[in-house]
Amino acid sequence: MVNQVQVKSILNKHKNRDAWFLDDYSINPYYGCSFNCIYCYTKGSKYGEHMTKSLSAKINAPTVLEKQLKRRARKGEYGVIALSTSTEPYMQIEEKLNLTRSLLKIILRYRFPVHILTKSKLVLRDMDILKKIDENARLPKDLEQKLDHRVIISFSISTLDEKLAKILEPRAPKPTERLETMKKFKEEGFLTGICFIPVLPFLSDSEEDLDEMVKTAAEYGADFCLIGALTLFGSGPRDCKTLYYQFLEEYYPELVPRYKKLYGNFWAPSNHYQKRLEEISRKLCEKYGIKSKII
Ligand code: SF4
Repeated sequence: MVNQVQVKSILNKHKNRDAWFLDDYSINPYYGCSFNCIYCYTKGSKYGEHMTKSLSAKINAPTVLEKQLKRRARKGEYGVIALSTSTEPYMQIEEKLNLTRSLLKIILRYRFPVHILTKSKLVLRDMDILKKIDENARLPKDLEQKLDHRVIISFSISTLDEKLAKILEPRAPKPTERLETMKKFKEEGFLTGICFIPVLPFLSDSEEDLDEMVKTAAEYGADFCLIGALTLFGSGPRDCKTLYYQFLEEYYPELVPRYKKLYGNFWAPSNHYQKRLEEISRKLCEKYGIKSKII
């Protein structure tokens, strides 16, 4: 059974809105994540600093959120809430606990817009609430003219290669399941897309790979495609940098020197590499008629 913990706060207000995901707030109903992706950026980065060692559910989150959102709504401090940024809101345990669902009901009551970030088809369970949020939430003033939805749903994919995905994201649903789930949301009129984040250097980042990925996303009805680089943090035994290099040593030892050259001692690849990704992303999204940003 998953640990249950009590929290004092559940709604994180950002200093500035996230330029990619448009969130002003974030909510993480769980500490940790059972999908266990090797590259998970929370392991070893500042995002993982205050996490408990094992998966834990923030069991009083709905009561705390009720108070926090009531206060924000009273002051008119509306903003997009990302659910979630450092955990998966729809991992297996959510089926039993309904924690994310309870939080969405409160978000609906206080009319906040939401950006769901997931790899899971369990998000389909909450389509009823998400529809109501999309119809009733209030956008912050400066987004009113730019966004015509109050719900954004993004599915993250690092590779379309199912074998590779199984190694890197051992407990997450297959990439095709994520695409199928996105298609269902698109058919229901939602604003939805794919985050190819992180793309994996020398494994899923060639122009051909990216072309195939954006083309597939477009075929499944994505409104947008965000493409972002792999980050590698930490040096502890459970940190993503350590785990990722172990994965390379086991499956692609010939790539280790190339990664070392690309990352050096930094957590992100070179600026040149990131610029190249940005340019390819813009070009491919244009080619397949979808947006390379949400707005
Ligand atoms: S699904 Fe997201 S939060 Fe969970 S392990 Fe994978 S990258 Fe981390």
